[in-house]
Amino acid sequence: MSKRVDITGQIFHDLYVLEFTENKNTHAYYKCLCMKCNETILVSYSNLISGNTKSCRSCGNKRVSNGVEQDICWELQNKIKICAISEKFNIGRGIVYRIDFS
Ligand SMILES: [Zn+2]
Repeated sequence: MSKRVDITGQIFHDLYVLEFTENKNTHAYYKCLCMKCNETILVSYSNLISGNTKSCRSCGNKRVSNGVEQDICWELQNKIKICAISEKFNIGRGIVYRIDFS
């Protein structure tokens, strides 16, 4: 058995490691807080340190196309609320935050 490294309290990209949860198939799983949307998710230690998992699914996996990004920029410039935009385009707020419209 390999020794588990305690990574509680560390930050990997957008994820803050809250606590160790369990060992599954020789993988250690940690409960992490996605700092973009405050969602808690389980991530394996190897995915955390390798950078395979950088945020929760709703923030990380979805990428918006350039066309949609332009639409969102327009909405941002017109001071539409981020929560309204994320609802309209059905994307995580983290993605809206990340779009640079300046
Ligand atoms: Zn998230």
